[in-house]
Amino acid sequence: KGKEKGKNEAQFFNPDWMESRSQSLALTADLRLALSENQLEVYYQPKVQLQNGKIVAAEALLRWHHPTLGFVSPEVFIPLAENSGQIVEIGKWVIEQACEKLTIWRKINASFSIAVNVSSIQFKRGDLSEFLKKTLQKYQLPGQSLELEFTESLLMANTQEVASELQLIKQLNTSLAIDDFGTGYSNLSYLQNFEIHTLKIDRSFMYELRENKKNIAIVKAICQMAHSLNMQVVAEGIEDAETAEIIKGFDCAIGQGFFWHKPVPADAFASLIQTDNVASKSDHPEL
Ligand code: C2E
Ligand code: MG
Ligand code: MG
Ligand code: MG
Repeated sequence: KGKEKGKNEAQFFNPDWMESRSQSLALTADLRLALSENQLEVYYQPKVQLQNGKIVAAEALLRWHHPTLGFVSPEVFIPLAENSGQIVEIGKWVIEQACEKLTIWRKINASFSIAVNVSSIQFKRGDLSEFLKKTLQKYQLPGQSLELEFTESLLMANTQEVASELQLIKQLNTSLAIDDFGTGYSNLSYLQNFEIHTLKIDRSFMYELRENKKNIAIVKAICQMAHSLNMQVVAEGIEDAETAEIIKGFDCAIGQGFFWHKPVPADAFASLIQTDNVASKSDHPEL
């Protein structure tokens, strides 16, 4: 466990650079070429079953290899892509990449799914449900092989447009997850209104969980609430065995974090699930 540490330690370009407006404009201009110049890559981070560490799903996480700056963090370039509107095109590209990998990886594990982050801008400006429908058809994938991670702010908007677009997406059987749960709003009525499947507890709550009684109380309460509303919980940002143990004690089924695996390129991910599948078969020869 934790053996991946260090290996994929990307040295991200320092966001302090972004303080200047001209620099952020320059980076936005560079980003326009990123897709056509093959500088974007989707990494995949395993989501594991807490009981046995078996990989059940992945989150698709975008990476930008800038020609002179090296790796630029998505925390830096996603907001730029949102401001310029480019997130619509980039977001579609990520979904297409994920679907292509799903066709391969579901041959190894038939119930495998990939979660894709969807920006509010992409959701509001794009034809997301249409695109999803078309792409799922193209790759002959069932809707439940994809999960969409939204932020609370999108669902809080609670406009007619958001509601009807979500309705269309739900008809595709695609699951909806709330990302970074717990950091946004306290009005939880949208959880019921939109039939959310999954809550992803924000990783800030996992930090020093063992020593932090308040965070323990929050995480526990989120897990309880999710269970009584029949939602799945994913605890993200788990970095050590103690945290994994605590979370397991709250009946949380799925974890994601550096303790198990960091995000890795598609090829590395393929070997991870290949190995994982063989290992879990020999653990349970009856399967
Ligand atoms: P997120 O969706 O909350 O993704 C989880 C982030 O937590 C990822 O950061 C992941 O690398 C990191 N993480 C996972 N486990 C651990 C851990 O144990 N410890 C720590 N310290 N970090 C962990 P990443 O890849 O830098 O992405 C940052 C954010 O950028 C994402 O947060 C998401 O909001 C956004 N993003 C990434 N890819 C996309 C994309 O394709 N589309 C959109 N719209 N947003 C994206
Ligand atoms: Mg996410
Ligand atoms: Mg998150
Ligand atoms: Mg986040």
